Amino acid sequence: MKRTVGLVFVVSAPSGAGKTTLCRAITDSLENLTHSISYTTRNPRPGEIDGRDYYFVSEERFRSMIDAGDFAEWAQVHSNLYGTSRRVLDDMVTRGIDVILDIDTQGAKQIKTRVEKAVFLFIMPPSIEILEERLRNRKSDDEAEIRKRMQRALDEIRDYAMYDYIIENRDFDRALSELRSVIVAERCRTHLVDQSWIEGMLLTSE
Ligand code: 5GP
Repeated sequence: MKRTVGLVFVVSAPSGAGKTTLCRAITDSLENLTHSISYTTRNPRPGEIDGRDYYFVSEERFRSMIDAGDFAEWAQVHSNLYGTSRRVLDDMVTRGIDVILDIDTQGAKQIKTRVEKAVFLFIMPPSIEILEERLRNRKSDDEAEIRKRMQRALDEIRDYAMYDYIIENRDFDRALSELRSVIVAERCRTHLVDQSWIEGMLLTSE
């Protein structure tokens, strides 16, 4: 089915809810869906690759990109800056490619006012205890960092009501299937369909 533009799926979650793994799995398994690579001033974690996980840039470079209006949205998270390239996002959407933005709730609020008809999904951990356990198991952060992330997690969850869909990540396969269902259903919305396709069909059968 032909569509006129690509869709923007904004996916947020408290850190440790499994959002990045879910986003990666869904872009691997659905066609015509890509993941926007954000710019960040934070240091790469072990195993992270520049240009695949993030574009890792200096704060100076990031600030000059803000001044140049290069970001569709940007935010400060855990004392680091993160932003989505406006050019990449516009380019995908006009080419009819669906894009996932794995961004925090501050960024989601900006997209809500700037991108018409973006779809907002929030990934929830099954409980606060499980979230904390997952953060500890990650072993990449020290105790102070875990406390900071837990506090921020609660702040993020408080914004849940602005999202269109809530997906509980208790069981990964089930969460992935729910995420897939939302994306597939949103793709079938009437306003996205190239109407000339149906109108043409009607004309030729008159
Ligand atoms: P992390 O440092 O753990 O990779 O990401 C920390 C938080 O920053 C996550 O909630 C992630 O979704 C968010 N984030 C990543 N990229 C962006 C971005 O481009 N914009 C905004 N607003 N948040 C982002």
